[in-house]
Amino acid sequence: MLLPYLVIDALARAVGERYSTFDVVGAGPRVVAGILEDFEETTLLPCENVVSNIELVREFDAVFISAMSSDYEALRRLVMRLKNVQFKGFIVVGGPISFEYSKVLRELPVDFVVVGEAEIPLKHLVNCLKNGGDENCLEKTPALAFRRKGEIVLTSRHIYTPKDVLSAIKPWTKVNLSYKPTWIYRFYVEVLRGCSNFVRPLIKSGELNCLFCMKCRSSNLSERLLCPANIPPGCGFCNVPYMFGYPRSRSVKSIVNEVEELIEHGARRIVLSAPDFLDYCREELVGGVLTDPCNPPPNISAIEDLLNALFSIRDVNRGKVVVMIENIKACLVNEEIGKVLGKYLKDTTVHIGLESGCDWYNDRVLGKPIGLSHVLQACKILSEAGLRPYVYLMHNLPLASREVYLNTMRAVEALGRISVEKITLYKYIKLPATAFEKILEERREENVSEIIKELKKLVNRYNTAMKRRLIGERVEVYIVKSNEGYYGYPIKHGPVVVISPRSIPRREISGCRGVVKILDISSRVIKGELIDVLECPQNI
Ligand code: SF4
Repeated sequence: MLLPYLVIDALARAVGERYSTFDVVGAGPRVVAGILEDFEETTLLPCENVVSNIELVREFDAVFISAMSSDYEALRRLVMRLKNVQFKGFIVVGGPISFEYSKVLRELPVDFVVVGEAEIPLKHLVNCLKNGGDENCLEKTPALAFRRKGEIVLTSRHIYTPKDVLSAIKPWTKVNLSYKPTWIYRFYVEVLRGCSNFVRPLIKSGELNCLFCMKCRSSNLSERLLCPANIPPGCGFCNVPYMFGYPRSRSVKSIVNEVEELIEHGARRIVLSAPDFLDYCREELVGGVLTDPCNPPPNISAIEDLLNALFSIRDVNRGKVVVMIENIKACLVNEEIGKVLGKYLKDTTVHIGLESGCDWYNDRVLGKPIGLSHVLQACKILSEAGLRPYVYLMHNLPLASREVYLNTMRAVEALGRISVEKITLYKYIKLPATAFEKILEERREENVSEIIKELKKLVNRYNTAMKRRLIGERVEVYIVKSNEGYYGYPIKHGPVVVISPRSIPRREISGCRGVVKILDISSRVIKGELIDVLECPQNI
């Protein structure tokens, strides 16, 4: 039986297909599907499943597509396919791409864009559509963009969903119907929304004109909310604080319920998703408005309550289901929190942003008051507690001079001395609703392309050397068959293993849990052989 509403997960599809993070299922589309289920039965499908079976969409009354800015091409292809098969229902777009509503509505046959957080506007919109979709009703829907007499209308600025509503929504959990083989996926479960960094870049360039009033660094946390120069909050390259506001945590009960339901529907890998997991309930220590990324320290009792409740779920406690965290800010890590995380999350990865190894650049240009010493200290504490820190760096950032890159290369060496498992070097890409969107791009300090090449080589060499340590090790993985062959996804996360075809048994094993032995590595791939199949889902 087909259902009236279809949510399409187009997150991280770029030009239509999933790229490297094949096993990630973001939280947003499940939240949207959960909101819609209050109205009608709803199904959620990954973009590629819809594209490969496009005829099925005709049966739905409306489709709701979730995408990021970088997924524009995937979104374009998808909506053109919908139109090619004469889909007559409403096409609604949301997710981080919604901040480009003007471009989306100008260039694509999309009916509505829900701008920013969906909980409140989406309910409003569905009520309007159910009552005939009259313009008066649409105009009263907050944060909604649509076409009216050839013009693009935005009804109001985006709104932040209140904390109690975040806990009241029941995200959609029937993942076994949509993501197959279900065991292999990392299902992201939102534990909080928003970011605590309301510090901003202290620079003048192009339309970015800091007045140096220092309000964004005030000890009065409410003062940090508004910048007289209208500079969006947070790190200059990131739009999370502008799009999602300051952190609001979900209740333990709502998170545990969601995880339990996901497990009932076959999930085996859960990622507690947040721009910073250590912000969990930290807003409660400051009366709600949490705009300082480093003070006060984490709310340890709240974090322990959450982890304790999750690890009381039988399958998590027995190790059948793995729970991991996503990102943390280094300046919040201390010995006490290290002990708590180590008690529950041993052998899992955790991501820490450093961006550059130059403290003054991070602080004044990026608007990120977190430097190398914070990251080294955090990695040390977390590694000693049994976690596996991964560190992010960036290149091509605005106003980054040779000095910044030299310091970043020194930082790689320092991270190497404490044997950080992986350093990920990202290329900066300009995003909408960021401080750096306003920067004058021509202003380059000096030609840094050569030193960026050196940095890339250094990071590459480092990661290859770290992966080489894996040779001979046995790793527990979930096995996935694709057109190219068999792959092993490490259960507790880590580099994907290309499994030698010679070691694959004749029977179907895609979706099974197994053990691979690492045989060889190159800078791009890790090769291994399957030495055991431990467990397979029923009906594969
Ligand atoms: S970024 Fe804005 S709030 Fe911060 S110092 Fe500059 S003008 Fe003031």
